[in-house]
Amino acid sequence: MIQAISSNILRRYRVPLQQMMSFSAIPQPVKSPKIPETGIFINNQWLKSVSGKTFPTIDPTTGNVIAEVQKGEKADIDLAVEAASEAFELSSRWRTLDASARGQLINKLADLIERDAGYIASLETLDNGKPYTQALSVDVAASVKVFRYFAGWADKNHGKTIPMDGKYFAYTRHEPVGVCGQIIPWNFPLLMLAWKLGPCLAMGNTLILKPAEQTPLTALYVAQLSKEVGFPDGVINIVPGFGDAGAALVQNTKVDKVAFTGSTEVGKLIKQGAGETNLKRVTLELGGKSPNIILDDCDLDFAVEGAHSALFFNMGQCCCAGSRTFVQETIYDEFVKRSAARAKARVVGNPFDANVEQGPQVDEEQMNKILDLIESGKNEGAKLVAGGKRVGGKGYFIEPTVFADVTDNMRIAKEEIFGPVQQIIKFKTIDEVIQRANDTTYGLAAAVYTKNIDHANTIIQGVKAGTVWVNCYNVIEAQAPFGGFKMSGNGRELGEYGLQAYTEVKTVITKIPTKNS
Ligand code: NAP
Ligand code: MG
Repeated sequence: MIQAISSNILRRYRVPLQQMMSFSAIPQPVKSPKIPETGIFINNQWLKSVSGKTFPTIDPTTGNVIAEVQKGEKADIDLAVEAASEAFELSSRWRTLDASARGQLINKLADLIERDAGYIASLETLDNGKPYTQALSVDVAASVKVFRYFAGWADKNHGKTIPMDGKYFAYTRHEPVGVCGQIIPWNFPLLMLAWKLGPCLAMGNTLILKPAEQTPLTALYVAQLSKEVGFPDGVINIVPGFGDAGAALVQNTKVDKVAFTGSTEVGKLIKQGAGETNLKRVTLELGGKSPNIILDDCDLDFAVEGAHSALFFNMGQCCCAGSRTFVQETIYDEFVKRSAARAKARVVGNPFDANVEQGPQVDEEQMNKILDLIESGKNEGAKLVAGGKRVGGKGYFIEPTVFADVTDNMRIAKEEIFGPVQQIIKFKTIDEVIQRANDTTYGLAAAVYTKNIDHANTIIQGVKAGTVWVNCYNVIEAQAPFGGFKMSGNGRELGEYGLQAYTEVKTVITKIPTKNS
């Protein structure tokens, strides 16, 4: 089993060996992981919800309830904000810690996540449905890396000295923004938490994180770990709940900043809410309809596999999924044939099985939304060449689906499907495909497969997207910024750029005494 998982990890996800090397042995899945605390985590305490309400979190593989979780609402959010505000006071234990000590706490959290990697990956698989091999090698491993990366920044994000005119000495201090509200989605529950907590804590802020209602369990376990690490009371608060709890964070005037990942629709509400209250800082990482451009001078087998994983990775539930596969006309028919064969060979099933590539969609609502979009594709005249149906009657599984002869005005070419449905679209020239690739309100990512560097450079410059991949896809690392152009969002996460959202710049100007003053 361990061997199978190990080879699957390396084969399927091309994880650099050294990334896995930090585990002394590849951890085995825990088939019935112990359920963590299911309360609301405020001030290092586990609380029941003020209303007394709970909500079920579901195993999407079976549709069964895993556990009842305390349902945070406005009253609970307000308590958490009070705790985070107190922890941010200038004389608090947190604010008086050395920056290097903050970094050590974050590194310790990474150590504990690594210690419990097999358990955490199993919990993620249970709650979200993603294959254990991926939960371990991508979600957990990358979360550890993100925490370690930002731990290193804790004592390095410093200001500048500035040559002022006149007898003045000027410098900048990089200070934390304050109390941060963080709202995350269900597609990468642990990893999105790491993207949010890492830079926020490194820069000395305090936070309230609301996980998605579908997948609260790994966030609650990280709360347990943060207590074990010894973060001071009120620095990290985790409030599970629904959209109203997220909205309460946006409405609360003691929250200085909101970071959100999720749908463009909710992203708009958050910006609006921030404008109506205290103009809190807002960063948004929203949806996409990313073009993956396959030129006829590519390595065809490599591009077919690249385009397949660009779309089907994580059951298609990726904001940056390559969901418009543009293929040059001379190789179009062959590309479609090979892509359909690859999709038909994709192994769908129990996400705890080592050879499974695709588990269930996260919930029934998402499954039905995807099936509806598949129907729209058929009705609008796209050619179904693989899949197209639900798998079985238990759990939320969908066949890996491929549409050919897709045109730009079809719903499946315009709307974010967030499911295992590949659209293959024909184009003739590079100028034409750049124009069509940009004909969307989104701008999160783009990719090109080609062996011609001039073609690659033309496309890199032409596409409006926050990330452009060349002969690869979904390569995301802690060191490189990630975020969107246009309606895919505002601001950047990860890398040095990712610190900006959590930093206020204070300019200090001091008069230098002269003989006369
Ligand atoms: P969503 O509604 O945008 O949810 C994302 C997060 O925002 C969740 O924690 C959610 O809470 C919270 N939320 C919902 N309404 C809110 C409000 N009015 N104010 C503040 N926070 C609020 O996304 P979804 O419903 O889970 O998925 C819908 C679609 O969004 C997907 O089909 C996909 O197209 C897109 N999506 C994008 C990403 C991404 O990575 N960019 C991730 C997930 C989904 P609840 O958990 O209670 O809803
Ligand atoms: Mg769940």
